[in-house]
Amino acid sequence: MHHTSLIVMLVGGICLAFVFGMLANRLRLSPLIGYLVAGIVVGPFTPGLVADSGIAQQLSEIGVILLMFGVGLHFSIGDLWSVRKIAIPGAIFQILIATVLGMLLSWMLGWEWGSGLIFGICLSVASTVVLLRALEERRLLETQRGRIAIGWLIVEDLVTVLVLVMLPPLAGLLGGTIEAGGSDSIGDVLKALFWTLGKVSMFIVLMLVVGARVIPWMLERTAAVGSRELFTLAVLAIALGVAFISTAIFDVSFALGAFLAGVMLNGSRLSHEAANDSMPMRDAFAVLFFVAVGMLFDPHVLIEQPLAIAAAFLIIIIGKSIGAWMIVRLFGYPNETALTIAVALAQIGEFSFILAGVGVSIGVLSEEARNLILASAMLSMVANPMLFAALDRWIAGREPQIRASAEAQMKETVDDSLPDRALIPESNHIILVGYGRVGSRVARSLHEHDMPMVLIDTDRDHCIDARKLGIPCIFGNAVSADVVNDANIKQARAMLIAISQALEAGPIIRQARELNPGLAILARAHSDEEVAYLHQAGADATIMGESEIARSMCDSVESLVRLSHRLEVTNRPPDPAAA
Ligand code: AMP
Repeated sequence: MHHTSLIVMLVGGICLAFVFGMLANRLRLSPLIGYLVAGIVVGPFTPGLVADSGIAQQLSEIGVILLMFGVGLHFSIGDLWSVRKIAIPGAIFQILIATVLGMLLSWMLGWEWGSGLIFGICLSVASTVVLLRALEERRLLETQRGRIAIGWLIVEDLVTVLVLVMLPPLAGLLGGTIEAGGSDSIGDVLKALFWTLGKVSMFIVLMLVVGARVIPWMLERTAAVGSRELFTLAVLAIALGVAFISTAIFDVSFALGAFLAGVMLNGSRLSHEAANDSMPMRDAFAVLFFVAVGMLFDPHVLIEQPLAIAAAFLIIIIGKSIGAWMIVRLFGYPNETALTIAVALAQIGEFSFILAGVGVSIGVLSEEARNLILASAMLSMVANPMLFAALDRWIAGREPQIRASAEAQMKETVDDSLPDRALIPESNHIILVGYGRVGSRVARSLHEHDMPMVLIDTDRDHCIDARKLGIPCIFGNAVSADVVNDANIKQARAMLIAISQALEAGPIIRQARELNPGLAILARAHSDEEVAYLHQAGADATIMGESEIARSMCDSVESLVRLSHRLEVTNRPPDPAAA
């Protein structure tokens, strides 16, 4: 079969990505590897179906826009600020090391220095997707180690955005072909650079002055309309629209435009909702981005350049790690902190692919270099969970020592995933999952009645709010056995599940039942199907919002009718006949 249309690309890309993603998951690999493999399968370098790479690239651009929008939405100067002393020098030092090592390798391979420079930078920036997932799985997000790793990543994000902006005007100098008129005269390059920086600054100023007001305002107004659909549309219109304007008018990359659009929404009250609403689209297009990247991969490189791939892989997992480990140790942090950060960042992914794409498009990076980056990225994603598993084993073996050193470090530690241990009841208590619209009301009521309880919520701010009221809250996901064990589930009396996603409540219930068969479990549902599902999972009782509303309405109607009847009686005009 030959070149295919948009629909075939979309359907084929998504279906194959799903199949290979599931397969990767089965093999305990990152699903990203599955998506890349799906791309290789439909790519031009393997026999069989060949998807249209032009269409794939355009779809993947949408993926890049939504990915960068998401990065902007979650971008937090506050997160960076709290760990700036270590994260900023650490990330810069690590980027320098990886870039120099990458350049050294490219020099050995006989490439131009410009190509080597981009190659090196590509090896230096870690993948947010891979890192967040790894930290989340290990409940490290809110620990000191996790925060440093995230701050570090924010610096890398910023460097990536900067490099993306600077690459086109520097193309001539780096030995590229387009932009700057393909010129490599310093004068022309400087002119192009100033011109680009001027446009970028204008764009940023416009975003800060106009965007920062208009974008949140627009979203607030849309939210006030009360239509979920229009709200989602507004979020997408903002992300795609700003990215498009940034390119069409200011000649700034899609990535920067989308990133800034996200940043503009970042502080807004609705940023959470915006992130949730754009997530399914983002995920779908991000998958297509990985498929498109996979399509560009020529597997022959595995046979032709095994040593170069091995060297690039070693730079990612050893060169970068040693750099990170050294600097974290130098700052006086314990060994496990240094090792966690080193392992967390010992991988590359989407940012490297985006950078490599720009490098190729401006004629600086060769296809060969991009193939090396793709191959080593995939290897690093395969290796990363294994490295983490080895680290977990190492840490488990040293648990007592680590605990001692953690206690010594207590003052500096910002691990606030657990409330004061003494506040968590030991037995006969209620575990309440979720401190949202329903859970917070339940929690306040139980607390007022002095019922022994502990909360679990995945939202840090919600946990902090609860703790302010004196309610102990564990920050974490109730699906995790560690989290519910922290809540002393084995001795608990009841579990109330007040989260809105029944599908997520299912596994929570099954696990809770397993850990404590006598536990009374009450869950929240939205439909009859959910009620059946939750009972099947092991819930003793369920409360369905709609039927409760209906019941309350009936109760209210009765009293309302009684009231109006009374009013009617008292207000009735005197009966002339009776007079
Ligand atoms: P709402 O949708 O407003 O009722 O809020 C649900 C609350 O449950 C939010 O605060 C979420 O952060 C929280 N939540 C959702 N899923 C989980 C989970 N698996 N474990 C703990 N908390 C959760």
